[in-house]
Amino acid sequence: MSTTCLFCRIIAGEIPGRFLYQDERFVVLQDVNPQAPLHALVIPRKHVATLNDLLPEDDGLVGEMFRRAALVAREHGVADSGYRTVFNCNREAGQTVFHIHLHLLGGRPLAWPPG
Ligand code: 5GP
Ligand code: ZN
Repeated sequence: MSTTCLFCRIIAGEIPGRFLYQDERFVVLQDVNPQAPLHALVIPRKHVATLNDLLPEDDGLVGEMFRRAALVAREHGVADSGYRTVFNCNREAGQTVFHIHLHLLGGRPLAWPPG
């Protein structure tokens, strides 16, 4: 827990958030500024600032993040039509919240390559 981290504070209940899924290791939040009909953020309860800060012991955690994304995609009816998962790392990739999160986007055709 970082007291200055937005996602740690949402997870702790200090700031409101719309939770689509929760378990002992993760929360899935509705993105406050959605870029697709489904735009969720899979967030580990453990504070890790960026992908660069992952440790070997976090390998399982990252795999579990993708499985949570697939679960939420299935629950929201986009598992078969298609969806995208994205990690942004640091400034040039557009990371704005420094607590790792996996974006889950679906419900519309998504262009490639991304901007
Ligand atoms: P990043 O740019 O770091 O990859 O993604 C951060 C995401 O968090 C953005 O898509 C942004 O809309 C979302 N976000 C920022 N502040 C809040 C908030 O207070 N609540 C929620 N649910 N999402 C937020
Ligand atoms: Zn945090």
